[in-house]
Amino acid sequence: MTKGNHLQLFDQAHLKARFSPAGVHLFDRATGMNVLLDEIRVPSVMWTNAPRQVSIALTNACDLSCSYCFAPKNHAVLDFEMIISWLDELDANGCFGIGFGGGEPTLYPRLAELCQYAAENTRLAVTFTTHAHHLDESLVSALASNVHFVRISMDGVGATYEALRGRSFAVLRQKLTVMQQLSPFGINFVVNSRTFLDLDAATALAAEVGASEFLLLPEQPVRGAGGIDSCTAQELHLWVAQYRGKVRLTVSEAGADGLPTCNPLDKETGLCAYVHIDASGILKHSSYENDGVAIGDGGVMQAINELQTFRRRNNNENLARL
Ligand code: SF4
Repeated sequence: MTKGNHLQLFDQAHLKARFSPAGVHLFDRATGMNVLLDEIRVPSVMWTNAPRQVSIALTNACDLSCSYCFAPKNHAVLDFEMIISWLDELDANGCFGIGFGGGEPTLYPRLAELCQYAAENTRLAVTFTTHAHHLDESLVSALASNVHFVRISMDGVGATYEALRGRSFAVLRQKLTVMQQLSPFGINFVVNSRTFLDLDAATALAAEVGASEFLLLPEQPVRGAGGIDSCTAQELHLWVAQYRGKVRLTVSEAGADGLPTCNPLDKETGLCAYVHIDASGILKHSSYENDGVAIGDGGVMQAINELQTFRRRNNNENLARL
């Protein structure tokens, strides 16, 4: 049976498939189900071209000013038609999911239209990350049915949250209850010395409001400053080892060092796993990277190839210097 025959079978079962060194990976965006057939050795000529997941910063605009914000501070916003051409291309090349972010994606005027386009015209799972303060009934009803998962940023609870984010925690809490009407959702939690002591209360709240995932984001240095200190990082390792809460923990790749993680897709790495497109249309390996490639008329896949070549050349030059 050929790859084309397999794809037809998976289509009928509403599954999307990726072929990679990790095996055959099946995904259902409606339920979030992932199945990895890792016994199957897939020849390299059959490997899926596009990254598994792509994040797109729709705009750099945000009405909050968190000190550890990684988003560039120049004014930049992506063109709607350009984004939908990228979504079509990524979907056709085997990408599983798209995550809209920013800045604050709810400040992108056509967010609901974009999610609707992706849900109706592609088979991409649609997610976005938000501070949640603009999620009112009208936006929630415009997004309903067109979003598969939402990530809510909640660094700390109560006074910690209010000091770091400059917004009312009571309002955030009320937004979390509204989320249950929209889609499954998770909590994103930046871990640093100020938020660490709130982890127990935050995971308990996540369970209470029905979050399905709690993403630990050990704070990364931004523009050369900040980042989680080594003492807090050690305390976090102990906390994770002792965690018995109901909500599943996950951790960012950048902050995972030393933590007990399980990654069944560890053979599908680098640009095959994930890329980020910033609000200026620059494609990077992650939002924390400085180097990237502008997406031109050749589209996202061409930019990925160019970035791959650029990274290989840099690696070779670094090795030659050793
Ligand atoms: S809410 Fe997000 S985008 Fe806005 S300032 Fe904070 S970290 Fe940056």
